[in-house]
Amino acid sequence: MICRVCHREDSKLGLCHLHQEVYQTIAENYDSWRKALNLSWKEYLSEIEQNPLTGEWIKEVAKKLIEEEKTKNVQKS
Ligand SMILES: [Zn+2]
Repeated sequence: MICRVCHREDSKLGLCHLHQEVYQTIAENYDSWRKALNLSWKEYLSEIEQNPLTGEWIKEVAKKLIEEEKTKNVQKS
C-alpha cells in the first residue's frame, strides 16, 4: 500500500510513518479543539489548512483529509 499523501513509502494503513504521525497529532488535537470551539471534523481540518502557523506536513495531511471528506459526501448523495 502506498501513502495516500506523498505516494512514496509503503505502509499498512495507507499512510507512511511520517504522515501517520502527523495524522495522529491532528486527531489528538481535534479532541481539545472540539471541546473548546465545537468544530466539526471538516471545519477543524479547514482551520488547520488555513492557519498560517500550521506546518507544511500537517497542512498536507489536512488537505488530503478534506479532499477525502468531499469524495465521501459525493458518494453519499
Ligand atoms: Zn507519506
